[in-house]
Amino acid sequence: MNAGLWSVEGSRIDGKRVFGPRILNISNPFNGETVGAVSMISTDDVSRALRIAWTYRSTLTRAERGEVLFRAASELSNNLEEASLLISLESGLSKRDTRHEVSRVIDVLTMAASEVLQDDGTCQAGDVGRSPKRRRTITQREPLLGVIAAITPFNHPMNQVAHKVIPAIATNNRIVLKPSEKAPLSALYFADLLYRAGLPPAMFQVVVGNPRVIVAQFADSQFVSLLTFTGSVGVGKQIAGLAIYKRLILELGGNDPLIVMDDADVDRAAALAAHGAYANSGQRCTAVKRIMVHRSLASRFTDALAANTRRWVCGNPLADDTDVGTVIDTAAAERIELAVNDAVGRGARVVLGHRREGALYSPTILANVCSTMPLVTEETFGPVAPVITFNCIEEAIAIANGTPFGLSSGICSNRLDYIDRFMHELQVGSINVWDVPGYRTERTPFGGIKDSGLGHKEGVLEAMKAYTNIKTLSLPWG
Ligand code: NAD
Repeated sequence: MNAGLWSVEGSRIDGKRVFGPRILNISNPFNGETVGAVSMISTDDVSRALRIAWTYRSTLTRAERGEVLFRAASELSNNLEEASLLISLESGLSKRDTRHEVSRVIDVLTMAASEVLQDDGTCQAGDVGRSPKRRRTITQREPLLGVIAAITPFNHPMNQVAHKVIPAIATNNRIVLKPSEKAPLSALYFADLLYRAGLPPAMFQVVVGNPRVIVAQFADSQFVSLLTFTGSVGVGKQIAGLAIYKRLILELGGNDPLIVMDDADVDRAAALAAHGAYANSGQRCTAVKRIMVHRSLASRFTDALAANTRRWVCGNPLADDTDVGTVIDTAAAERIELAVNDAVGRGARVVLGHRREGALYSPTILANVCSTMPLVTEETFGPVAPVITFNCIEEAIAIANGTPFGLSSGICSNRLDYIDRFMHELQVGSINVWDVPGYRTERTPFGGIKDSGLGHKEGVLEAMKAYTNIKTLSLPWG
């Protein structure tokens, strides 16, 4: 794949490439080489896309939608290397990470393709309660009357898009997407894949332009019924303020703990900590951002984590042996470096790593981290493993709950009494015993509470519910 193949892309409106007055260059964060360019469209073209979506009503049957999704899954499986290369080029993520991302997109497609054949409608008898009647109620789900407007982040440039778009197709909705301007090429690639699979282009359009302006247009548009946003807390809350009387799905930042209790197998816990902190260059909402270790194990655990971390190769995202590629750009790597320096200034100790070269930041372990340091009270979006110690389960729970975030968590313990307390007392959307906070299948409910999310959950099944209205029919039949 060479740079020319991706040169000057346009938005996708009604299946056609649409260009605008300004050009956005996309470069490889590892070496600065141009990967492509996307022209940024005008507000008039964004309005046109919304109107086209609003006017269109899909008549695809369940079987036809299932076929589109299965065909797309099959084509993506055949082109997994090409898609993974594109994501690596525009994001700097290692091929190891982006192969995994593409395989997740294939899963989202196939799971939605089978789910679309199901009907979760209910049928209830009316001869109940204090006023029984010989009637029956039947429910059915319908697509939204208006358009779904979606906004996605850079960190999984294709899978974040898939999780918003595929449930929309499965439920016969129309969706207009604004991908991250930091990695928009994967979204355009994905749109073309779906069109080739037979998707009517008005069901899924992509607009690339000024984020602030486009999102304000989405929020203001009479054609939009639902806004779905994945990204940072600040922008999410801003969008919540703009979207008056629209259904809202906000999937925001995380600061997830991996909690290692005193009965844990240290090597197993260290392997999970490394994977959770470094995979996808640490740029996952559910990355392990705080490693909380019982004081009795802290020294052995830190040694085991260091031994594990030495095996993680950081470098050229396209090299076969690379585990950790770059973060999204040099400015992001500099922010991580500064946050670590700040923690060191407050008493933390670098055990390993903390080397930056452009947008490459090596997997870094910090010991003596205090739970009030900005490194761990704020979201540090990179391959950093800060180790915080605690003395008892009460303290572990207090530290885990002590930030505004509440996305996910991982627990390393076999003790049912510990697991029971975490299950009841952690303020999070999910708890994973002996797995990383990011564990999920593409079908499981996914999303956080507190500042990590508002509204409906994601995951294929929950998103399909969120994207539909339930209509109830009652009949004189009992
Ligand atoms: P971001 O908030 O900077 O950007 C997300 C999207 O919002 C992008 O499309 C961007 O163009 C747009 N945007 C940025 N500034 C805007 C503004 N002022 N007005 C309107 N739109 C604007 O987030 P990011 O840096 O792309 O992604 C990283 C963040 O996303 C992290 O906080 C991460 O935890 C979060 N995230 C959350 C989940 C989840 O499911 N909870 C998943 C992935 C990422």
